[in-house]
Amino acid sequence: MTNLVEIFSSIQGEGIYTGARQVFVRFSGCNLKCAYCDTPYEPNPRFRVEFPAGTREFVNYSNPAGPDETAEIIKKFNLKKHHSISLTGGEPLLHTKFILQLSRLLKAEGTMFYLETNGTLPSHLAILIPVIDIVSMDIKLPSTSELSGLWDTHSEFLQTCSSKEVFVKTVVSSSTTEPEIIEACKIIKGVNPKIPLIIQPVSSHSGYPGKSPSIRRVIKLQELALDYLTDVRVIPQTHKYLGQL
Ligand code: SF4
Repeated sequence: MTNLVEIFSSIQGEGIYTGARQVFVRFSGCNLKCAYCDTPYEPNPRFRVEFPAGTREFVNYSNPAGPDETAEIIKKFNLKKHHSISLTGGEPLLHTKFILQLSRLLKAEGTMFYLETNGTLPSHLAILIPVIDIVSMDIKLPSTSELSGLWDTHSEFLQTCSSKEVFVKTVVSSSTTEPEIIEACKIIKGVNPKIPLIIQPVSSHSGYPGKSPSIRRVIKLQELALDYLTDVRVIPQTHKYLGQL
């Protein structure tokens, strides 16, 4: 049993799978507190399910949710028309045991599991990695997230998921510094320089008090990252523009 926030079918709005259709399972709780966080993840007595997709019609269910109940809800969506199930949050790695149970219940469906994670819980990831197909991992830059001391943890985390498909996402603002980007690139290069890095300019929709970087600045940061890595893309959050959940 675990606490969920919501389950819905929508269009991925971040990273290299932007545009792909996914079923999202949003878990409650997070071990970090990023300055730019715009995600609802506080524990609630209920979680909501949008059905049909895109209608903003919700059915409420009681927390904590059981794995059987969650699997049955997910199966109501046509999984054949979905790229994967996105485990998101909050921080889904705080729910490792539940996700393992869920993966067993949904194995017969043949759907991929896509993990969206803040990249700071490597020991939790080590338990879950056998059932994960794709990892979307954040590297938190101190200037933007207002968190520090995460470099070594991010490095250990990326090494732990290097046997699976993985890409790294990092949020940048007008205050992002070049040494931070270089540090992030060195971590990725140390594992595999072909791992994609997605530079995600902070969203002006998020309420974050910092400023979005200018396009000149973003291009400069991308050029800098390309000194270390082979695949560096700039992709803003598209679900904000589309009005997606
Ligand atoms: S890791 Fe994600 S969910 Fe957690 S505080 Fe940061 S942005 Fe919010």
